[in-house]
Amino acid sequence: MGKTRYLIFPCVACGRPAICREGQKIKVCPFCGAKTKLAGVRCLGRASSPREAKELISRLKLQASPRKGERRRV
Ligand SMILES: [Zn+2]
Repeated sequence: MGKTRYLIFPCVACGRPAICREGQKIKVCPFCGAKTKLAGVRCLGRASSPREAKELISRLKLQASPRKGERRRV
């Protein structure tokens, strides 16, 4: 019995990470609707459950985006 594994790919259009199942070929972005061909995209992470995948994504978001309420004054 094969366990489903989950991969995290960034959307080609908006760059937001989305969860895909291993073996899936195309991911439609839940945010912007763009289709990403997973074959040519660099995987951001792997997980063995959807929950783990979500945790990974929240960590990726923390890394990628600047913290709210911490704007710099010029
Ligand atoms: Zn997108």
